[in-house]
Amino acid sequence: MQGFKKIKRATNLYEDVVNEIKKAILSGKYKTGEALPSETELARMLGVSRPVIREGIRVLQSRGFLEIRRGITGGAFVRELYQLPFMEDFADLIRYRRVKVDHLARARLLLEPEVCRLTAQNATPKMLKEMQDLLASYAVIKEHDKLDNLYALFHRFVGRACGNPIYSIIMENIMDFTESFIRTMKPVTTIIHNDGDHDKILEAFKQRDSEKAAEVGTRHAMDILREMKELEDTYLELLGSKYPEDDENEQEEIEES
Ligand SMILES: [Zn+2]
Repeated sequence: MQGFKKIKRATNLYEDVVNEIKKAILSGKYKTGEALPSETELARMLGVSRPVIREGIRVLQSRGFLEIRRGITGGAFVRELYQLPFMEDFADLIRYRRVKVDHLARARLLLEPEVCRLTAQNATPKMLKEMQDLLASYAVIKEHDKLDNLYALFHRFVGRACGNPIYSIIMENIMDFTESFIRTMKPVTTIIHNDGDHDKILEAFKQRDSEKAAEVGTRHAMDILREMKELEDTYLELLGSKYPEDDENEQEEIEES
């Protein structure tokens, strides 16, 4: 047949080990702080050799899932998730409800009004000009994934311009998470940005109107997050995943106004 290449075996054995152990951790079979079975035991359970288990564990350690402790009480322990997850793990984290759009929404909506307020006060003319140039570039960019980056970049600029370096760093992280969510969940053809919202925010900055900036900035963030939640619902539905802990641990959802 033309146009087809033979399918190669896509994964190495240790990658299967990584996926099996990751699944066991994310589904809550092994909880944070709990030790995995010994290498020998895992090798027996998974039907592979100990070096393969060791390689799988090494990968999971580097990806932030496991912590290796030495000594007599040592072993591979399940870690709390603190670092920004690897892109390839992000889909699993969403699927198993370890990271939710609602988590992101709570952080962003807490920060957004204050950052916008400060940026209206503190953004230098040079920074405002950079934002203006960025917005002008939207009209000529056609590729949707590039546009997503540039939409996020506006919010990174806003964070950088606020004058509080701690907020700037947190905002960069929030946008990293936002982009990870979007890249994982969003069909490439969907645009979840309202044309003109960024112009209104920038206008408020230029007028040095802190309250207006906070208001339009926060409303914009809420719109985006609401659309992201819809994407999340669709994404989970497509995966057919509804996990029991959803109902147990569900916190009160963000009020939509
Ligand atoms: Zn935006």
